[in-house]
Amino acid sequence: MNAPELTPVQIAWLQEIGIDRRMLAHYVAQGEFGDPGEPGARPGAAAAVQARAASGAAERSVPAAAAVAATAVGDPAAAVGARRPGVPPAADAPARVPPARPAPAPAPAIQAPPAVTEAAADWDGLREQVLECRNCALHGARGRAVFGSGDTQSPQLMVVGEAPGGADDRAGLPFQGKAGVLLQAMLAAAGLDGETAFYTNLVKCRPLGNRPPTPEEVQACMPYLRRQIALAKPRHVLALGGWAAQALLGMEGELDTLRGAVHAIRTETGEEASVVVTYHPAALLLRPQHKADAWRDLSLLRSLVAASGD
Ligand code: SF4
Repeated sequence: MNAPELTPVQIAWLQEIGIDRRMLAHYVAQGEFGDPGEPGARPGAAAAVQARAASGAAERSVPAAAAVAATAVGDPAAAVGARRPGVPPAADAPARVPPARPAPAPAPAIQAPPAVTEAAADWDGLREQVLECRNCALHGARGRAVFGSGDTQSPQLMVVGEAPGGADDRAGLPFQGKAGVLLQAMLAAAGLDGETAFYTNLVKCRPLGNRPPTPEEVQACMPYLRRQIALAKPRHVLALGGWAAQALLGMEGELDTLRGAVHAIRTETGEEASVVVTYHPAALLLRPQHKADAWRDLSLLRSLVAASGD
């Protein structure tokens, strides 16, 4: 069956409701989006489509983001490898060559990646720097930066999502709305203490239209997440979604190749934390058939927590 042709207005609508970005990326790769600059297209949709085209299809662009973050800004939280055998390395994933596409429009200009300054050596200083940050284009459309919330003193668990949503932007807190409710229900059902976790995102400002952050935006914001991990010193990290997982671990691969294993990262100050990867709750709201897989991921995390005596 031929893929449907989507107008820019349809694309914008699909993105607004958070429809599967893999599907959208597929259409981009297949050239089914048409001209995002066509009259009637929403600016946000055009920028998103161009950004995706500029960096390859959505999921394929994440490894680039991770690689940039790992090399350009240091990577003190670099992954120290998966501990569980049987998970194929990302390099084994079959390469997919996208069809030739017209040259994309230049990505929005961003400032140089931020140096997390000496003033951000503690939580108050880091929070202040994030709330005032204008280091990438996302600052222009945010209501407020969403720093993160929860237990900051060696929490058992740090939960890292992708980016704030609209409700998060309004509240200034992560994981509000239906996705946050589902996340708390999942943690509780798996026997994990969500009350004492610290919650944050890969980028601290909301991308309009629920689009994923661009590699440049991830690169600009990653130092803040690294410093948060170094300050919090969590024993375990739950990465929600492929973007968060790949940027945290500095690994390529689809979400399903990163799930099902216990990974590890080392913080800026040398502590090691285990990392488990699962679906983002917003994705589970759209595709509840993956809830069983998410349950297995959280059960794996629960076994880690139990084994560490937490
Ligand atoms: Fe700064 Fe991160 Fe917000 Fe970009 S997303 S403006 S880097 S805090």
